[in-house]
Amino acid sequence: MKKAVLNEIKAILLAEKERLEKELAQFAHRNPKTAETDFNSDFPNVGDSEDENAAEVAQFTDNLSLENELEHALRDVEGALKRFDDGSYGLCSYCKQEIDEKRLAARPTSSSCIKCKKTLTQEV
Ligand SMILES: [Zn+2]
Repeated sequence: MKKAVLNEIKAILLAEKERLEKELAQFAHRNPKTAETDFNSDFPNVGDSEDENAAEVAQFTDNLSLENELEHALRDVEGALKRFDDGSYGLCSYCKQEIDEKRLAARPTSSSCIKCKKTLTQEV
């Protein structure tokens, strides 16, 4: 794959990482004891009445599912960036062939080629 294309994709991934981390930081904090990509949602504090407590729980539940979603996306992005570091980015993790550039442009976190992906999905 061309170096220029790779650099472009890396820039997209880094921007995505920053965006995800910013979004997570709005309602969660990094868990300092575990993995870098593990965030804990903050419990919102609206007020102390029963209604307000119920609202807090509802918001916290929403935050948790959003947290999961964002964490998952962040892990994918960080995994892809790690593959840049060890030089395996753009190679299928199953057959070790180059992944199609168009596929990577559409989904920069892909770690498998279309052929392997199809084989895997059919197995399920
Ligand atoms: Zn493959």
